[in-house]
Amino acid sequence: MARHGDGMVQLPSYGDEREWAACTYCGGDTATRDHVPSKVLLDEPYPDDLPVVPACRDCNAGFSPDEEYVACLVECMLAGSTASSKIGREKIARILAQRPALAARLAQAREETPDGVRFAIEDQRVRNVVLKLARGHALFDLNEAHREQPSRFEFLPLFAMSAPARELFERRPTASCFPEVGSRAMQRLVLSPEKQLPTIGPAPWIKIQPGRYRYLVSAGVGAIVRIVFSEYFASEVAWG
Ligand SMILES: [Zn+2]
Repeated sequence: MARHGDGMVQLPSYGDEREWAACTYCGGDTATRDHVPSKVLLDEPYPDDLPVVPACRDCNAGFSPDEEYVACLVECMLAGSTASSKIGREKIARILAQRPALAARLAQAREETPDGVRFAIEDQRVRNVVLKLARGHALFDLNEAHREQPSRFEFLPLFAMSAPARELFERRPTASCFPEVGSRAMQRLVLSPEKQLPTIGPAPWIKIQPGRYRYLVSAGVGAIVRIVFSEYFASEVAWG
């Protein structure tokens, strides 16, 4: 079995294969395999054995501009600047240097206020990316395809959360019912070293790349996916 950068074991899925027989995002064909998260949200060297889900060619290629936008936006917000010399992630500095139109668009969204620098966010592009990622994680970890619109969708910087909201966000939700037998989430629960079988423990945060990308999935009445980019940008998507 391969290991992620933080030592996480990549578990094979033994769940119902039918959920995997269509594009994760639109229900179309399965011509390609899409990385979740996309590599623009991670730094090199990439963790081994990144999660992949089936996707049609249109979806696989179609999300890339928005993913690039979100990855750049987050780093510009962190830097308070769109100047590539101020950007912390080398990859993002390179993208901004290579994509003048994107850099100009972000510069235009930047505003200096008495309270500090602000960025106007292109809401729909952020939603496209977060929803796509959440759908990918739900399929990969829970074996659940959620192509329907979510019942809850929120995103904001971690620092903007109140202390109680942050505590709730970070707390691992206790699974209120068993994930599908054979799904990776189920195996994580069963394999959880600090739990005695067959106790169902809380869903863990999965660190794809420490400091860069972590997520949590929880099965209950519906599904909850929480994602944090760069320990800055937090989101939660729920179905059901
Ligand atoms: Zn598709």
